[in-house]
Amino acid sequence: MKRFVLGMMVVALSIATAPLSAQDKLAQQKADAAKGVDEMAKLAQEMVDSVFSFGELGMQEVETSRYLTAQLEKFGFKVTRGQSGIPTAWVATWGSGKPVIALGSDIDGIPQSSQKPGVAYHDPIVEGAPGHGEGHNTGMPLNIVAAIAVKRIMERDKLPGTLMLWPGVAEELVASKAWFVRDGMFKDVDVNLFTHVGNNLDVSWGQAGGTGLVSKEYTFEGETAHSAGAPWRGRSALDAVELMSIGWQYRREHLRLSQRSHSVITNGGDQPNVVPRNASIWFYFREIDQPNIKAMVEIGDKMAEGAALMTNTKMTSRILGTAYPRHFNKVVAETMHANIKTVGLPTWSEADQALAKGLQKELGNPTQPGLAVKVSELGQPEPLENNTGGGSDDIGDISWNMPTVTLRYPANIPGLPGHNWSSGIASATPIAHKGVVAGAKVQAMTILDLLTKPELVKGAWDYFNNVQTKDVKYIPFISKDTPAPTHLNKAILEKYRDQMRKFYYDPTKYPTYLDQLGIKYPTVRTTPSAQQQ
Ligand SMILES: [Zn+2]
Repeated sequence: MKRFVLGMMVVALSIATAPLSAQDKLAQQKADAAKGVDEMAKLAQEMVDSVFSFGELGMQEVETSRYLTAQLEKFGFKVTRGQSGIPTAWVATWGSGKPVIALGSDIDGIPQSSQKPGVAYHDPIVEGAPGHGEGHNTGMPLNIVAAIAVKRIMERDKLPGTLMLWPGVAEELVASKAWFVRDGMFKDVDVNLFTHVGNNLDVSWGQAGGTGLVSKEYTFEGETAHSAGAPWRGRSALDAVELMSIGWQYRREHLRLSQRSHSVITNGGDQPNVVPRNASIWFYFREIDQPNIKAMVEIGDKMAEGAALMTNTKMTSRILGTAYPRHFNKVVAETMHANIKTVGLPTWSEADQALAKGLQKELGNPTQPGLAVKVSELGQPEPLENNTGGGSDDIGDISWNMPTVTLRYPANIPGLPGHNWSSGIASATPIAHKGVVAGAKVQAMTILDLLTKPELVKGAWDYFNNVQTKDVKYIPFISKDTPAPTHLNKAILEKYRDQMRKFYYDPTKYPTYLDQLGIKYPTVRTTPSAQQQ
C-alpha cells in the first residue's frame, strides 16, 4: 500500500505544478482503480464465499452462474446465456467499441472435495459431496470486482472500450473453451485476460509447461445372457473395457515420457448374473504438443477397436473435452507483470500463516514454509524439450486464437496435491479474500493499460501473428458438430444438491462463511496427523 500512497502523492504534486502527462494520468487512474477494488473487498468476500458454498461441478454450475450473472446485471452489465448449447455458460458485456477486453476464469469444483474452510485437516461439510477442491470459486469474483472498478473509471473519464466477462464452465472436464472458440464467442475480442487461483501473483509468456489433452469415452455394446446358465450366449462389453484398460497399461511403457494418461470406468455393467451388454471407459490422453496428442488419441482408437474385435462387441466413441497446450502473450504478460510489482503480495496475518503451516504439516510435507511472501518473477517460456508434462487447461484453445495471459493470484496455500479437499481449505478464508483483492487490482490496472495505450494491443497482436503463430497453427480437436458434454456430473449433483443447499452462504445473516459455519479461524490439529501416525 505504501507504494500506492507514494505514487498518489507524486501524482498530486504534479497536478499542482503542471498539466498531467498521459503517464501520470494513467498512474492516477490505476491508483483510483486499486482504491475502488479495496472499497469492494466486502463484495469480493461475499462472492468468494457464496460460490464456495455452492460447490458445483462442471456443467452443473447452475446456482453459481445464476448468482454471478445477477451480480453483473446489478452493476449494469448485459448478460446473454446458453453459449455453445451449454446452459451454465454466459457472457456479460459493458461499454462500446474497441478495444474489447475479455476477462475469464473457471467456476467449477472437484468431486468429493467438500471441506470446511479454515480447518487444516479433512473435515467435509457434506461427506462425499463435491466442493471447491481447486479454488475455482475465487476467479470470477476477482474479475467482477476488477471490471466494476474499471467501469467506474471508464465512465468518469469517458474511455472507449468494451469489457466482456465469461466463465470457464467445466474446466475440470476441459469441456467448454474449445467450444466457445469454435462458436465465435471471442470473435471481437482484442485481448483475453484469464485468471486462475495460485499461491503467488504471477504471469508468464511463451509456451507454458504442462500438457494439452483429448478426453474421450469409448462405449462397447455386446449381448446379455445368464452369466451362469448360458454365458456362451453373451458378449461382454465389460470384457472389452477391461481389455482396453489393461492394453493401455502395457502400452504406457512405450509412450513418450512427457505423456500423462488416465481413465475411469463410467459404466461397468448392471449386475454380476447378467453378462454386461453396455460398458464404457473414459480416458484423458495428455501430451505436450498437438501432433503428439493426436498420435495418442489414434493409439486409443486402435486399442478400442482391438478390444471390440477380441470380445465381438460393437464400439462407439465420443470426445468429451479437449485442451490445447498453452502459449501466452509476451506483451500482455510484461504489462501485467509491471502491475504485479506495483501491487505486491497481500499482508498475511499470523492466523493465515498458522493455517497454511498447519495444513502443510498435516499433509506430511517435508517443509512448512507457509504462504508466499516474495512476489514471483515474470515467467519465461518452457521449451518443449524441457517439458516433462503435467496438468492442462482449455485456456490453451483461447491462447491460440487471440493474445491471452493467465494471471495467477495468491488465494491458496503452496504445497498441496491439487484436486483434493485440501485445496478448498483456504478458499473461503481471509487468504482467498485478500488474494482476490490483490489479483483484482492487477487485473484492473492491466485493463487500464490496454484501454489507454493502443500500442500495447497492437504489440500483442504483432507477437501473436508474427511470433506465436508464425509456424504453428491451431488445429482444433473438435469438429463443427461435436456437442458439448452437458450431461456430465448431472447425477452427482442430483444426489447431493439438497444436502448442500442447507449450507449455502447467507451474507444477509453472517459476515463471513466461516461465521455461518461457526469455525474458529484457524482450526489447526493439535494431535498428530494421520500422516504422522
Ligand atoms: Zn483450475
